[in-house]
Amino acid sequence: MITINEHYLKLQASYLFSDIAKRIAAFQKENPSRSIIKLGIGDVTRALPKASIEAFHRAVDEMAADQSFRGYGPEQGYDFLREAIAENDFRSRGADIAADEIFISDGAKCDTGNIQELFSQDITIAIPDPVYPVYLDTNVMAGRTGDFRDGRYGGLVYLDSTRENNFVPSLPAGQVDLIYLCFPNNPTGSTISLDELKTWVDYARKNKALILFDAAYEAFIQDDSLPKSIYEIEGAREVSIEFRSFSKTAGFTGTRCAFTVVPKECAAFDASGNRQLIHPLWNRRHCTKFNGVSYPVQRAAEAIYSPEGKAQTRELISYYMKNAEMIRLGIDALGFDFVGGENSPYVWIDGKRDSWEFFDLLLNKAGVVCTPGAGFGRCGKGYIRISAFNSHENVAEAMQRISKMLG
Ligand SMILES: *Cc1c(COP(=O)(O)O)cnc(C)c1O
Repeated sequence: MITINEHYLKLQASYLFSDIAKRIAAFQKENPSRSIIKLGIGDVTRALPKASIEAFHRAVDEMAADQSFRGYGPEQGYDFLREAIAENDFRSRGADIAADEIFISDGAKCDTGNIQELFSQDITIAIPDPVYPVYLDTNVMAGRTGDFRDGRYGGLVYLDSTRENNFVPSLPAGQVDLIYLCFPNNPTGSTISLDELKTWVDYARKNKALILFDAAYEAFIQDDSLPKSIYEIEGAREVSIEFRSFSKTAGFTGTRCAFTVVPKECAAFDASGNRQLIHPLWNRRHCTKFNGVSYPVQRAAEAIYSPEGKAQTRELISYYMKNAEMIRLGIDALGFDFVGGENSPYVWIDGKRDSWEFFDLLLNKAGVVCTPGAGFGRCGKGYIRISAFNSHENVAEAMQRISKMLG
């Protein structure tokens, strides 16, 4: 008899985006003439940088001729891309990362989801609340949690991100083994300072723990005193793995390219307490289960590190940050408490009422779609997330409508 992995039955169906879609459809049916502006999705809206498109086309042409055609590439990614990343994203900021510590992949979602395979079943895991759901659900699937009760899975340590801690969780009171952190944060848009991040690195070193640092939004950091990489902190190489993606940085959500950094010294422990290096284990997993990102896509990603590519991605990010500013100023003028939008594309707003109630109000009265914070965890109750991924015109119009309705 074929039996299933019962842990899958513990997963909470994610009604968030289907609920949102249903409410939008109902609104449109009742108000066919009213226009809707969507500031809910976590997806980019602008085209790929020109430098990437040109490199992409050139690489496709190479694939069209026998002499320059390429078949399987290295599973870990082509050296040209790994070298460009190591130099531009890390060494230029004083973070000592080598090209062979970088594993190119087709997404930070897959990587943050897959990494837990390397660790044992009985570890204690700390997960932020509110959270990008991938970290949570992949550990549920793997059987590292109990059942879901009162909005939380048993057996996990939740790291509350609230107004009280300025949306940067405090260190856990007890011992945890695996820690997920994401800064700039999705969904709150909050950032972490070097000193705060150092307390986590120190905690991990002291407790033989490991930090999984999701830096998918590092490109949105405007304040140069904030860490873009956890490896800007001394001692982080032994205790941290970092995830990055070209998705939000350069509009690659539909093109697919990301990478994971596993420093050579980074270690976990076996049952006898001996240090086991993670780099060879992740390399083994990657080569066994993944066959590399397509050559043209890696060329398109490499192109963002050319002088033109850098200028174009900066322009792309500035465009969204201008939207984030419009959102912040509008929300501030209305007297709401909020965080984010200064070094991230998300603004997290205390709606002073239930998330869904605020969602319905914005939809029905202003025709603006946001994301209810409750969909990201218990601490998200009472909050909404507004995203800067849209055009200037739409964001300006949305903020005008919201101001008129609430002002
Ligand atoms: C968008 C996003 C990613 C990137 O995912 P990809 O699979 O690379 O597109 C990773 N982490 C967070 C928190 C995100 O919001």
